Amino acid sequence: MSRERSRALYDRALDVLAGGVNSSVRATKPYPFFVKRGDGAHVIDADGNKYLDYVMGYGPLLLGHTLPDRVVAAIQSQVSDGTMYGAPTEVEVELAEFIVRHVPSVEMLRFVNSGTEATVSAMRLARGITGRDKVVIMQGSYHGAQEGTLVDGDPDGAEPSSPGIPDSFAEHTIPVPFNDEEAITAVFEDQGEDIAAVLTEPILGNHGIVHPIDGYHQTLRSLTDEYGALLVFDEVITGFRVGGLQGAQGVFDVEPDLTTFGKVIGGGFPIGAIGGKTEYVEQFTPSGDVFQSGTFSGHPVTMTAGLETLRYAAEENVYEHVEELGTMLREGLADLVADRAPSYTVAGRDSMFKIIFTRRGGPQSEGCAGGCRQDEACDRYEYCPKNGADVDAAATDRWERLFWQEMLDEGVFLTANQFESQFVSAAHTQADIEETLEAYKAVL
Ligand SMILES: *Cc1c(COP(=O)(O)O)cnc(C)c1O
Repeated sequence: MSRERSRALYDRALDVLAGGVNSSVRATKPYPFFVKRGDGAHVIDADGNKYLDYVMGYGPLLLGHTLPDRVVAAIQSQVSDGTMYGAPTEVEVELAEFIVRHVPSVEMLRFVNSGTEATVSAMRLARGITGRDKVVIMQGSYHGAQEGTLVDGDPDGAEPSSPGIPDSFAEHTIPVPFNDEEAITAVFEDQGEDIAAVLTEPILGNHGIVHPIDGYHQTLRSLTDEYGALLVFDEVITGFRVGGLQGAQGVFDVEPDLTTFGKVIGGGFPIGAIGGKTEYVEQFTPSGDVFQSGTFSGHPVTMTAGLETLRYAAEENVYEHVEELGTMLREGLADLVADRAPSYTVAGRDSMFKIIFTRRGGPQSEGCAGGCRQDEACDRYEYCPKNGADVDAAATDRWERLFWQEMLDEGVFLTANQFESQFVSAAHTQADIEETLEAYKAVL
């Protein structure tokens, strides 16, 4: 497989783009392939190589690369009417109404331009509402490239995980292990009066895919209620992906106070949103005092792409399709690892999947087949990663240096590290899943 053109493009890129890329995860070794175009479930690179794609833009592309005609027509029609105006449009009301209708806890929204912007604004809102500074986050969770959550540490102290962030930012962030009810209860007993919010992904989606144990989110809900803090679900990755139109909060039957969205709701264009109860979201300016604004926010082209994508997904059984293929893939992977690498863990649900290269573990069991769900009745329960540290302890180098490269040579494009989720899209077929399982079989 020649990648000469990609190599030459990366050579040029290294002169003018930091690290040759615009988002750090894209700088795969030894050099990334450059995409020429997408086609359904595939991407074709600058040298004409074709890969079956499970990265799907790192999450936004629920429908794959070839948008349905009606979605393309709506986007084109909006572009010919002008791209943006700096004044409100009907389509942003319609997208907001669609989301409010389907996500149980959301009554009102503010649209922004990225998931990062959504979590930044949600934290500002939670702090503004409560008049408190501290925010509890989960170790191994990802909330975008924002100062307040780029921290390492534990409840006894956190420090910035990147240069350029003042220690004073990290002072207000309390990282706890996901799925550890004792740890977060102790944090609230100790500092509950100072905590503005608990910010968590309902499923860790950027760190191996870690499912909550039974009752964990209910514990977060009751602790935040008891201490007057807000519960904020970061559904940037799970929103309109896990649990179909209701999001992961519907699956786990927990109503957060605020929810952040991004990725899928933009239909392939940049987006973020903060949603929640009216009494809270109304605190944003101009109805409230918590400042929030953006030149591109509610961008008509994005709103159109998002609305038409979600309508299509709702009307054309997209969630049933991706769930069916996702289950077929996870079950096939569980069979393969049972045979070849029984210590590995198959994770995911709905359209999300990953094999975590866990080093410890008994034999696979029935309970593992559809992806680890932290089912206490399952024989492997104690080996299923429960938090970020458990995923970090997996064979992450093997994934990145051996496995990922070889899968690419087999024509399957997976996320380049052990941590990021992978996605089945509406464009994938049963034949694609079979081909993928053959590739895993050859490489694992
Ligand atoms: C991707 C992601 C973000 C960041 O979104 P961007 O659009 O990349 O800024 C935040 N939170 C979660 C859970 C994400 O998956």
